Amino acid sequence: MTARNGPLGVYVHWPFCKSKCPYCDFNSHVRDGVDQTRWRDALLRELDHAAREAPDRRVETIFFGGGTPSLMEPETVGAVVERTKTLWDAAPDIEITLEANPTSVEAARFAALAEAGVNRVSLGVQALDAASLAFLGRQHSADEAIQAIATARRHFARYSFDLIYARPGQTEEAWDAELAQALALAGEHLSLYQLTIERGTRFFTDHARGVFSLPDEDAAAGMFELTQARLAAAGLPAYEISNHARPGAACRHNLIYWRYQDYVGVGPGAHGRFAEGDAKRATRRASGPEAWLEAVERNGHGTAATTLVAGRDLVEEALMMGLRLSDGIDRVLFASVAGSDPVDALGEPKLAPLREAGFLEVDATHLKATAAGRQRLNALLERLIA
Ligand code: SF4
Repeated sequence: MTARNGPLGVYVHWPFCKSKCPYCDFNSHVRDGVDQTRWRDALLRELDHAAREAPDRRVETIFFGGGTPSLMEPETVGAVVERTKTLWDAAPDIEITLEANPTSVEAARFAALAEAGVNRVSLGVQALDAASLAFLGRQHSADEAIQAIATARRHFARYSFDLIYARPGQTEEAWDAELAQALALAGEHLSLYQLTIERGTRFFTDHARGVFSLPDEDAAAGMFELTQARLAAAGLPAYEISNHARPGAACRHNLIYWRYQDYVGVGPGAHGRFAEGDAKRATRRASGPEAWLEAVERNGHGTAATTLVAGRDLVEEALMMGLRLSDGIDRVLFASVAGSDPVDALGEPKLAPLREAGFLEVDATHLKATAAGRQRLNALLERLIA
C-alpha cells in the first residue's frame, strides 16, 4: 500500500463553546451569536479547497471536533457530510464522529444529528460527581450526563465518553469507584485522560498560585495503572495511552493520526497532513474564528501556513504518533507513510539500550513501546529522536 491509496480522514473544527473550561487549551471561543449560514458556507468553501489539496482519495472518516460541535446546527453538519461525499469517494462504512457536550439541550439534537449522518458521538462527560464537575467548570450535571449517554445509545451506532482523572484530592479508591460506574454506562469505547495543567489556562494561574494541587506523580501513576488493569479486565483494553475500546471498536479517525496516515483539516486552527510525492504536505488554518472566516470568504480557504514534511522529520512525526499505540508501529505501514522501516531509520545503537531497559519491543512486524515505555513516552521519544 502506498500513502496515497491509504484512507483519508476529514477533520472539521467548530471553535465555539458556551463557556471556557478552566483546564482547556483547545482553540475554543465564547461568542454571543454565531451566524450559522455564514459559517456553513465558509466550511463548505474550505472543504472544496481541501479536495483540491488532496484529490482522488477515499474518505473513510469525518470527525467534527472543537470547541463544541454539538452546538452546530444539524443542517450545517449534514451539509458538510454531503459535500464531503460529493468531493471524494466515500467508504460505504464511513465513520462520522461528532464531539458533544452532555447537556440536555445538546442531547435533544442527537436525533437530528444522526439524521444528518453522524454515526458515532464522543461525549465530554469528564466526571460523574457534582463537586468535580463544578471544579472542572462544566455546564452539565452528572444526571444530565447519564441521561445524555442513554440518549446517545438510542440514536447512534457507536458512542464513547471522556473522563478526566488525577483531579485534586482524588484518591485511587474514589477513581476506582468512578471507573466502575463509568464501565456500567460505557458502550464500546472510553477515553480516560489524566488532568494536565496547560499554559495559558485559568488552571495554570490557579495552580501556580497554589489555589489547588494535583495528586503527586506516584499517586497519578497508580491511577494510570489502575485504569489500564480495570479496563483490560472489562474487555476494553487501552489501544492508545488514554483510549480504550472493545476489539475492533477503536476510533478509526484517531487511528489515522496515530498511524500517520492522511487527513485534511477545515475550520479555524485545523491541521492537515497528506501525501505529496515522497513527503507530506502539512497545513494549518488560521486559528482566530473571525480571521479564518474572513480569509475563507476572501480567498476560498483560511490557510495560515503550509510546509512540506520530508526525510527525518517525517520519520520523527510518525514515531511520535505511532508509539502512542499499544500495538505500536506496523513496520510495513510505517515505511509506506514515512519512507523507511522505523528500525532501519533509528538504528540498532539507539534501539538496543531502550529494548534492554524494557521500554521498547521490536519484532518482525512491529516496533512498540512497552507499558512502561508508554508511561514515559516523552522521555522515550527524546532518546529516540536525539
Ligand atoms: S467544552 Fe471542551 S472545547 Fe469547550 S472549553 Fe470546555 S473543554 Fe474546551
